[in-house]
Amino acid sequence: MTVALDPLMMWFVIAGIVVALLVAFFLGRRTGALRALKRVRQSGHGTNADSSEIENSGRYRAALVVNPTKTDVRNLASTAEAICRFEGWSPPLVIETTPEDSGEGATVRALDEGVDVIIAAGGDGTVRAVASALAGTSTPMGIVPLGTGNLLSRNLDLILDKTEWALRIALWGRNRDIDVGTAKTAEDGDTHVFTVITGLGFDAAVMADTNSDLKSRLGWLAYVEAGSRKLVGRPSHVKVTFDDDHRVSARVRSVLGGNCGKLQGGIQLLPQAVVDDGMLDVLIVSPKNLGQWVGVLASVLGRKASKGLHTNIRKCQKVVIESGEELDVQLDGDPIGQSGYLAMEVLPSALTVRVPTVEQRKQIRAEAWPV
Ligand SMILES: [Mg+2]
Repeated sequence: MTVALDPLMMWFVIAGIVVALLVAFFLGRRTGALRALKRVRQSGHGTNADSSEIENSGRYRAALVVNPTKTDVRNLASTAEAICRFEGWSPPLVIETTPEDSGEGATVRALDEGVDVIIAAGGDGTVRAVASALAGTSTPMGIVPLGTGNLLSRNLDLILDKTEWALRIALWGRNRDIDVGTAKTAEDGDTHVFTVITGLGFDAAVMADTNSDLKSRLGWLAYVEAGSRKLVGRPSHVKVTFDDDHRVSARVRSVLGGNCGKLQGGIQLLPQAVVDDGMLDVLIVSPKNLGQWVGVLASVLGRKASKGLHTNIRKCQKVVIESGEELDVQLDGDPIGQSGYLAMEVLPSALTVRVPTVEQRKQIRAEAWPV
């Protein structure tokens, strides 16, 4: 009896770990099309403003793009209004995202209003939507992380659980320019922006196949359920072309392109990925059986994914993945359908994000110190 149980238990443990990893970075929301990227890059607004500027009431205005499924919008809006008043800013423009507009349209409206910073208040999907509209502009993005993954925030070492500080950092933080990735699922198709990781194959299939009722009831356990059904699948034959010249043919379960690689729990899926190095880190995952999945996990958990037996990471500026069959595609956790083609490219320093100043970090640490 015990002989029969052991492999079964091992199966659930492995499935759980694989999917927990995926959950860590694929909790995103909807997608949106990217507008033509205009580069009007200049230094940001309001950085290191001194008290004389603060006294200049109403000089600056922020917009808050809020995902209403993640928070009580009225509460957040009144907190933001109070902080803006205290900091000498005009009352913020508050726009809620909708199922039709996950934040990109809202951001375009806010840009038209001429605001000084646009704050994405939501999960990775909202951040991605706001970033899509802001990439290539000089208007900085603030982030109030309200999702489960909050992966861009983690990779930028932002404050995750202090909404008021997140708002202050959005107003008076330091501007940091980061790269974004673009993705196309057809040569002449729409260009999408992503800030964290886009993938084709197993990772996206799990996202697409996760039952949304189960997700709302069980949270990340729903991904375990979908992941365990997908884990033992057939690898797909793909051609991967790096920077228009280096070509690899492989049988894979997933190909992932990352702008940054830190997941929840400090796990580094792409240990060498840097958010502003002008490069994408492309991970090819090709385990042939359950035992080799264990090798993949071990290499990821051991932060040596580039040397793992069944994974392979390469830096590039552009990558094209072609498969004879239609595979699931996800952008920062948003399933966007199936395609036999995925092209990704990096846009270096295309997005300005507000991050804490040294002084703000000191204050946050001081506040957290028990008195
Ligand atoms: Mg990079």
